[in-house]
Amino acid sequence: MLDYNSLLLALGFSAICLLLALFATWTSRRSDSFMLTWVVSLALIIVGIFSYSAYTLEAGPLIGSVSYFFIMSGFSVMHAASRQFRLGQSPLRISLISGCIVMVLGLPAMLVGYDGVSIIMLDATTAILLIATAREYWLARQEAPGPLVGMASLYATAGVSFAICALVLIDGEQWVIGYAPQSWAEKLNIAICIASMTGVGAFSLALHQWRLAAFHRREAMTDPLTGLLNRRAVFEAYGYAPMGQSTAVIVFDIDRFKSINDQYGHAAGDVVIRAFADQMKAMAEGDSIARLGGEEFAVILTNVMPGRAERIAERIRRGFAGQDIMIADGAVPCTVSAGIAFGSSEGRSFEAVLNLADGALYEAKRAGRNRVEVAGFLRAVDLEETRTSA
Ligand code: GH3
Ligand code: MG
Ligand code: MG
Repeated sequence: MLDYNSLLLALGFSAICLLLALFATWTSRRSDSFMLTWVVSLALIIVGIFSYSAYTLEAGPLIGSVSYFFIMSGFSVMHAASRQFRLGQSPLRISLISGCIVMVLGLPAMLVGYDGVSIIMLDATTAILLIATAREYWLARQEAPGPLVGMASLYATAGVSFAICALVLIDGEQWVIGYAPQSWAEKLNIAICIASMTGVGAFSLALHQWRLAAFHRREAMTDPLTGLLNRRAVFEAYGYAPMGQSTAVIVFDIDRFKSINDQYGHAAGDVVIRAFADQMKAMAEGDSIARLGGEEFAVILTNVMPGRAERIAERIRRGFAGQDIMIADGAVPCTVSAGIAFGSSEGRSFEAVLNLADGALYEAKRAGRNRVEVAGFLRAVDLEETRTSA
């Protein structure tokens, strides 16, 4: 049977492996900076584990304090990494606050010879930090349920095993011990820590894969120039179910866009496309907005009350016509035309509604541009009413 110190060393080496795996993962996606915080926390914990190993061989206030300092800083930073993962906030403040609290709670006791009290504090505060870390991953579980629930359970289990160690010491009233405690609870704790370290390593790699896949999925659905959904995304979202009467599709096409490209260059054309996309984001908030390709856009509205689609289309058209778009050569005025079509009571495919909206758009172009047409009416919409109510 392995002795306690060998188990500690095994824990130290498995922490080094986890550190290397996380560091390698971070280098492949540096925007995931919580991974780097996590690496820092492991480095601190590893120093803590090896100095605690020295403490088990020859206990003393100095080596005890060194290991207390590194273990507790490590767990404070590990908790900060979990908050950074969930909330994206900088880990510095929270690590400093929790680090200072745990130092004040247990370090002086170790320095003045109350090693038992100090180790109780170390176990209790580690339990709290690990359970708080588990909570962060649990709250973030929606992003990647499998790996995050797995990580949360492992952190929570490790936290409970530290709490048990504290309780055993309190129960034995071991305020001054003179050596590293080695009860059954300590052995259980170290076995759980080794298993958790390995498990967290596996889950962290799975989490990384999950995030990477989600990132690529998002990229495949997003138009890079405007950040709007692309054609593939809208077809995936709406292409399979028939559309009822209360669903509307508005298509927009910028007027005489070729001449902007010809006159001012392609880059200026891109500025105009982005300006129109911003206009749509501001005015059709909450609905699906997509760039179908070139300078053609669509808004899909579900559960629309009568007149709402027309009002939104008109608001966007008017807003765009009223703004001067700044390009390198100065301000360019631009207009847009729109076509609107609805689903039907029997249900109409998205493609059919889109074709109808395209037909209405064609009519708007034919009728002189800078206007909105509704399919089925094929006449300029009388917008007097909507102008007053918009
Ligand atoms: P109309 O009023 O009839 O719509 O006239 P138009 O000149 O806008 O004609 P059309 O809609 O056919 O023009 C599309 C042009 O958009 C053709 C193409 O050169 C340009 N285009 C397509 N994609 C991009 C892009 O990503 N950036 C830029 N700058 N131009 C693009
Ligand atoms: Mg056009
Ligand atoms: Mg076009």
